[in-house]
Amino acid sequence: MRFIVLIKQVPDTAEVNVDPATGHLVREGVSSILNPEDRHALEAALQCAGQGDQVVAMTMGPTQAVDVLSEALGMGAHRGVLLSDRFFAGADTWATSYTLGKAIEHLGPFDLVLCGRQAIDGDTAQIGPQVAEHLGIPQVTYVTALRIEDGRVRATRDLGGTLEEVEAPLPALVTVLASCNRPRYPELRKLLAACEARAPIQLLDAADIGVMADHSGLRGSYTRVVKTFAPKVGRETTVIEGSATEMAGRLVAALREKNVL
Ligand SMILES: Cc1cc2nc3c(=O)[nH]c(=O)nc-3n(C[C@H](O)[C@H](O)[C@H](O)COP(=O)(O)OP(=O)(O)OC[C@H]3O[C@@H](n4cnc5c(N)ncnc54)[C@H](O)[C@@H]3O)c2cc1C
Repeated sequence: MRFIVLIKQVPDTAEVNVDPATGHLVREGVSSILNPEDRHALEAALQCAGQGDQVVAMTMGPTQAVDVLSEALGMGAHRGVLLSDRFFAGADTWATSYTLGKAIEHLGPFDLVLCGRQAIDGDTAQIGPQVAEHLGIPQVTYVTALRIEDGRVRATRDLGGTLEEVEAPLPALVTVLASCNRPRYPELRKLLAACEARAPIQLLDAADIGVMADHSGLRGSYTRVVKTFAPKVGRETTVIEGSATEMAGRLVAALREKNVL
């Protein structure tokens, strides 16, 4: 079986802020990490894979995104694929998922595509479902447990308080939640091997995967981010004075006035 895991390099959002003057993300000095849920997607693939199966980690991004592929190889992926081309720059989710879908088709037959539910920078949770649409395969989202049985993926979906058992024929795509598993740490030996020039990481550009320039990147995007800004959070503080009974009475009156009570 062949598992393809889509992984994304994202800024460590714990360190990212929005510049209030320009509305742009301040990325200077911010480190990049493997999107947290993608680590769980990779762990799920590694747990499902048996002897002779292949786990391929794929990312689309600038050349430095190779770092997340090295990390994936360190965790146990058999090979990595980096999709990088100036034509891919500025892609919205449609152009991103189209490009990922074309690259998956380019690699040949596959059984299961795994993604994180969402990336912590874009936060749309659209890529997984859109890639499945581009490939014309079933999709199972919000997966918290999965196994492969009799040529089918059997998965438990967590719908926030309700669990749903779903099965789909292969090939299929699943997006996983962090509750799915506990990812293993990369092994030092594998990490060092992944950073060598002969590491099994393939670089593909738009021509390699047959992506037309006007279908990818900014030109292939139907949507534009018009503005990014941090909402102003205003707070009004009122100090209530008096005896305990008076303060309680004034508090109740103030809450009634605001229709809270
Ligand atoms: C309207 C709009 C305009 C945008 N314009 C730009 C722009 O000009 N420049 C720019 O840099 N970005 C832009 N983006 C962001 C970019 O489109 C998204 O980061 C990208 O499409 C992935 O979407 P997401 O981060 O919401 O991923 P999600 O859908 O939240 O990710 C779900 C999962 O999909 C997989 N995945 C997501 N992205 C990748 C990837 N690149 N490679 C491999 N797997 C992946 C991962 O498994 C991930 O966990 C734009 C986004 C929108 C909505």
